[in-house]
Amino acid sequence: MNCNELNFDSPRVLELVEGGFKKLESEILACKACALYKTVTNKVIGKGSHNPEVVFIGEAPGKNEDETGIPFCGRAGSILDEMIGYMDLPEHDYAVINAIKCRPPNNRNPLKSEINACKPFLLAQIRLLDPKLIILLGNTAEKAFCNGRRLKWGIPEISEESGITLLKIYHPAALIYQRSRTDEQKELIDRNRHLWE
Ligand code: SF4
Repeated sequence: MNCNELNFDSPRVLELVEGGFKKLESEILACKACALYKTVTNKVIGKGSHNPEVVFIGEAPGKNEDETGIPFCGRAGSILDEMIGYMDLPEHDYAVINAIKCRPPNNRNPLKSEINACKPFLLAQIRLLDPKLIILLGNTAEKAFCNGRRLKWGIPEISEESGITLLKIYHPAALIYQRSRTDEQKELIDRNRHLWE
């Protein structure tokens, strides 16, 4: 898989990585690289382990996340927690981040320009967290991380650039009120347990 466009080694990403988690956090909080900073209550950086086996990448903060500064803390967050429970993933083994750190107004989809503006933060987070597996939660996370290159649902691929295994499954919000998709998600998880167990 060709993900050269990820540009893990760009000077900006390397600079952020060199500063560590603290510098990264302060750079995100100070960022005005796209217009989204103007309308947020809180920027949402991430939660979970700093030394995870698995990193979940979501899309963008929603209303609850914007209010609290914590990713996946509303209804979709409960579903993600259930999903992680189903995966039998211990708390110290995972982290949860979003493709972009500021909530788009009215929960619209993030623009390509916003995803690109925030991408150095996403890449620096991945470098610092250094997981074995990245779980992309839905199509926006995939777009942000692989520049529009499509992965098949539930079929893992190794990123040539980073050597990290990528797996795309459904975003928890897509499972709300959709029993059949919840069952499908469980099948995708069961098929891939070897990646984290
Ligand atoms: S979404 Fe990302 S790039 Fe845009 S202002 Fe927020 S932190 Fe900066």
